[in-house]
Amino acid sequence: MLSLKDIDCQGKRVFLRVDFNVPLDEEGSIRDDTRIKAALPTIKYLLEQKTKLIIVSHLGRPKGKYNPKLSLKPVAKRLSELISLQVTLAPDVFGDKVTKLKRELKEGQVLLLENVRFHSEETENDSCFAQHLAQDVDYYVNDAFGACHRAHASVVAITQYVKKSVAGFLVKKEVDYLSKAVFSPEKPYTAILGGAKVSDKIPVIENLLKKADSILIGGAMAYTFFKAQGYEVGNSLVEEDKIDLARIILNRVNEEKVNFYLPSDHIVAAKAEPEEESRTVDSFPLPLNLMGLDIGPETIEKYSKIISESKTIFWNGPMGVFEIDKFSNGTTKIAEAVAASEALSIIGGGDSVAAVYKAGVSEKISHISTGGGASLEFIANETLPGIEALTEE
Ligand code: ADP
Ligand code: MG
Repeated sequence: MLSLKDIDCQGKRVFLRVDFNVPLDEEGSIRDDTRIKAALPTIKYLLEQKTKLIIVSHLGRPKGKYNPKLSLKPVAKRLSELISLQVTLAPDVFGDKVTKLKRELKEGQVLLLENVRFHSEETENDSCFAQHLAQDVDYYVNDAFGACHRAHASVVAITQYVKKSVAGFLVKKEVDYLSKAVFSPEKPYTAILGGAKVSDKIPVIENLLKKADSILIGGAMAYTFFKAQGYEVGNSLVEEDKIDLARIILNRVNEEKVNFYLPSDHIVAAKAEPEEESRTVDSFPLPLNLMGLDIGPETIEKYSKIISESKTIFWNGPMGVFEIDKFSNGTTKIAEAVAASEALSIIGGGDSVAAVYKAGVSEKISHISTGGGASLEFIANETLPGIEALTEE
C-alpha cells in the first residue's frame, strides 16, 4: 500500500476521501468534530504541498437522495474554522457547476464536494459514477478509515480512474497498528471481546481463535455462549438463533491452542436501569427474572491478571452496560488494566472507545481506532476493500 509520502503531489489536483460522518444535533449543528480533526494532518500536509484539494465525504444515510438535513454545509464551516482557510462547498459531486469549480481550483485551495451518498451509485460502487468523481483528478488519497470496509465508488471504484491511489496519514496509522495485531503480534496476545451481540463479532472471533493466546469474553455475548453450554442464564440477553454457532465456536476452541474465558461471576439485576437493585452471582442457574449486566469482581481480577501479562491486546465491546454507572465497573476496571499494562493496546468499536474515554484512560492506550466496523473487519479479514484498492507500490 502506497501512502502520502510516497508520491509527489506538489501542485496536483488531489481527490481526498475523508470520513466527515459527524454526529449532528436537532438543529443540524455538529455535536462532535473528532472525525474532522482526525483528517487534519493529511489536509494540512496536502495544503502545504500546494495541491488543488478536492475533499469528499459521506454524512448519514441519505439513501441515494438529496436531503438538506444531511448537507455537508456545517462541515464546510467547521473545517474552514479549523484550517483558517476558505472552504467552498460544491452543490453536488459532479455536473457542470462542479466541473467548473474543480477546474478553477487554484493551488492551496479547498473544494468540499456535497454528500457523496446523495447518489445511490456511491454505495453500488458504480464505475461510471466513479469516473465522474475522478474527472480531472491526478491522485486519490484515502483518509476515511471508517469507510474502508465499504466497497463504495469513492472508496474502491474510483481508484481505477486515477494515476495513483494512496493512504492518508490516518489510514496509514490505523493499518500500521492493526497490522501489528494481525500479522506480528508480540506474544502473549490477548483479545477482549464484549458488547451486545455475538453475531456482530463471529468472523472476528474465528480469526482470533487462530491468532490470540487468550480470548476474554464479557458483555451480553457471554450469555449466548453459556446457553450453548446448557446453562440457564435467566433473563440475560441471548441471541437464540446464534446458539448453534456459539457451540461451533466452543468446539473450535478445543481444537485450537487458545485459552477461551467466560465470566465466572456476574452483576445481575431485573432490568438495565439505574434504580434497579443489583447483586453479584457466581453460579448457574441465574434467577429467571434477572439478567447479567456486568462482569463480577472475580472475573475482573482474573481478566486483569491475564491482561497484565500480555504483550499485545485487542479490545472490542464493553464488559457490561457501561452507560449505567451501576453496571460500568467491569468495563472501567478492564480499561484500567489495559491502560496499566505495557502491552501494545488497540481498541476499536464506537461504544468501547466511548467507555475508554469515560474511564479516563485514553492517553495510556497505544491506539484508539477511529473506525469501529472497519477495525473489526480488518481483524477478521486481515485487509479491507478500501485498502486493497490502493496502489500497491
Ligand atoms: P462496540 O460499539 O464497542 O463495538 P457493541 O456495540 O458491540 O460495542 O456493544 C455495546 C453495547 O453492549 C452497549 O450498549 C452495552 O450497554 C451493551 N452491553 C454490554 N453488556 C451487556 C449486557 N450484559 N446486557 C445487555 N447489554 C450489554
Ligand atoms: Mg456499538
